[in-house]
Amino acid sequence: MQTLDFGGITVDRVVESEGPSFHPGFIFPEATQEALAGERDWLLPHFLDAESGRLLMSLHSYIIRTKHHTILVDTCVGNDKERPSTPPWHRRDSAWLDDLRAMGVPPESVDFVLCTHLHVDHVGWNTRLVDGRWVPTFPNARYLFHKDEYAHWETNEMPHVGSGTTEGSFEDSVLPVVAAGLADFVDGDHGIEDGLFLEASPGHTPGHVCLHLEGGGSHGLFTGDMMHHPVQIAYPEWNSRYCFDPDRSRATRQSYLERYADTATQILAAHFPAPVAGRIISNGARCKFSV
Ligand SMILES: [Zn+2]
Repeated sequence: MQTLDFGGITVDRVVESEGPSFHPGFIFPEATQEALAGERDWLLPHFLDAESGRLLMSLHSYIIRTKHHTILVDTCVGNDKERPSTPPWHRRDSAWLDDLRAMGVPPESVDFVLCTHLHVDHVGWNTRLVDGRWVPTFPNARYLFHKDEYAHWETNEMPHVGSGTTEGSFEDSVLPVVAAGLADFVDGDHGIEDGLFLEASPGHTPGHVCLHLEGGGSHGLFTGDMMHHPVQIAYPEWNSRYCFDPDRSRATRQSYLERYADTATQILAAHFPAPVAGRIISNGARCKFSV
């Protein structure tokens, strides 16, 4: 992704992994081949792997740099985590942290870490393994967790079985941050600084948030996992298999699509692959993603 500039506030992304991922029918149980075929003209080549039929997806974090702060949005899977049910995520050894440094962001320089929600692939780099202990990767940061989201995972049993589930990530990637006194439990409309504020977008998880960025007359919207893949812009009624509250997830997605269709808002999702940023535009009776 090219650096985006919102009136002097820049956005970059640091990639943990990217490429062919789920088969559409796995992650979106309601997807049909007929419906997908109707969207192929714009899903190819960026969003669908023609050869395998798999969706192209990404695991990445965003780096927002303002005059005052460096903010990280979502922290992927992380290294050395025990995730045996998802082999590509198990005891990873990726260059994500080195890549972040190479982009001019040493861990000490991060002021805020925002997790749009607390699923396993959004909290991993919150911590790293040092001498057998999980320690916060960003020692000078305030980690922002939505109150409702934190309360949910604090009191609910995590799903521990099956590919893509959250196995122990609350314990190894969230609780050590809280123990270190670096967590702020925020409301769904929390403001980070001028032009950067949260909006509650519940459904995928109970306390999922999006992040708005307004600067230089432009608007960016970090959508986390409110949408997992651009095909949901055409079919917002398709929930991912990981959505906590299916009806609410669908309704939230539909309301955002209605609000931002045919506007200049740049959508910055957690798993859309390169070229990543794009707009929601009308496409007959449905919408599509335009990069
Ligand atoms: Zn995710």
